[in-house]
Amino acid sequence: MREIRESINKTYSAKEYQVAVVGGGIAGISAALAAARNGAESVILIEKEFMVGGLATLGLVTYYLPLCDGNGRQVSFGISEELLRLSIKYGAESPNWYPKAWLENGSEEEKKQQRFKTQFNPYVFAILCEELLLKAGVTILYGTSVCSVGRTGNKVDTLFLENSSGRTAIAVESVVDATGDAVVCRLAEEDTAIFTQGNVLAGWYQYLDQGKNCVKILSLEDYPEETPEQFRPDIRYYVGSDAEMLSEMVIDSHKMLFEDWLKKKEENPDSTLTAIPAIPQVRRTWRLNGRSVRDDDPSAHFEDSIGVIANFGKRGPAYEIPFSCLCGNRVVNLIAAGRCISVINKMWHTARVIPACSVTGEAAGTAAALGNDFSSLSVPQLQKVLKKNGVLISL
Ligand SMILES: Cc1cc2nc3c(=O)[nH]c(=O)nc-3n(C[C@H](O)[C@H](O)[C@H](O)COP(=O)(O)OP(=O)(O)OC[C@H]3O[C@@H](n4cnc5c(N)ncnc54)[C@H](O)[C@@H]3O)c2cc1C
Repeated sequence: MREIRESINKTYSAKEYQVAVVGGGIAGISAALAAARNGAESVILIEKEFMVGGLATLGLVTYYLPLCDGNGRQVSFGISEELLRLSIKYGAESPNWYPKAWLENGSEEEKKQQRFKTQFNPYVFAILCEELLLKAGVTILYGTSVCSVGRTGNKVDTLFLENSSGRTAIAVESVVDATGDAVVCRLAEEDTAIFTQGNVLAGWYQYLDQGKNCVKILSLEDYPEETPEQFRPDIRYYVGSDAEMLSEMVIDSHKMLFEDWLKKKEENPDSTLTAIPAIPQVRRTWRLNGRSVRDDDPSAHFEDSIGVIANFGKRGPAYEIPFSCLCGNRVVNLIAAGRCISVINKMWHTARVIPACSVTGEAAGTAAALGNDFSSLSVPQLQKVLKKNGVLISL
């Protein structure tokens, strides 16, 4: 190893934005839409890849998990429902995953039987989301990584970007961290925590078999609470905390899925590999360690609740999400959304899925439209706007 010092003494002419949303996954899409629709004058969505959707599209995770509690009651509304409907505007990927009871006025009994979830085509969904964002007036900046931030006191006022133009900067009033890995929180020296237990290897892929587009879900089940030792001590876990480990994980995933597909090819020489994940399939890496850390008690109620999410694995429980678990303790104009909000490990398992990311994204984007100091933002005012937009705030 060598010590290398970079000295950058450069002046930037920076565009100004009221709201910058970093990361164009489901949380970022929801946050940017909410900010633009709720009166933010200028909203920029910064995405390092060249497609929106994050894990849900580039990562080929195409199952939109339930908006309902499994007992016939819908708990997540607003943009999370809008995006589910949008994702299958041109049809669900398989008839089994079309939520007929919910979209075609089913009876209460039918809604108890069938959960409000679906399977979508990742490319159709990404393009439709892009259209929706542009229609709402959001500026999308693709191929751009936020690589550093400038802070004055307890506020982030600058984002430094790297893209094909080189290194540039924008001036911001507030920032939504929807990077999935709490990248902006870490750059801003907000308090964060890492999922030390690590991720199981995943390699979901798509292939054409006898003219039919198929999805192969190649991964072990995630483990909600057990440590690796209790769960499967014999396999490797990937913490995904840095680029080297993520690269190793992606290479191992490619090997695993390719071997699997080659076996299919032996059985059926016409089989064609059509899509592999374009970003690492990590479930949990870094998260905000916020003003509060949400546990997994479904009976807990919060005065500052900003939305409700379901439990995809169990029928019955649903969870209010407090505003305080989107906000940090150090930087007052930075708010987290999606799979990097502040929750205990067991709750992380539930709060990281697509509909939940949309719920927290909508709340974060709405808050950013209302002000740029989340430590003093009027939560009743935020709740009023969310309710007006159809969000269920509490149970
Ligand atoms: C193997 C696996 C299976 C899963 N199964 C399901 C399932 O069946 N159903 C379900 O609902 N959920 C499932 N999930 C979870 C779900 O897909 C994700 O947690 C959710 O989509 C995350 O959304 P997000 O917007 O928070 O983050 P991401 O989707 O991770 O989006 C973050 C975005 O930020 C961008 N970004 C990151 N850093 C920067 C930066 N510095 N500058 C600019 N852009 C940046 C990334 O490129 C990415 O597009 C699964 C996840 C995995 C890994």
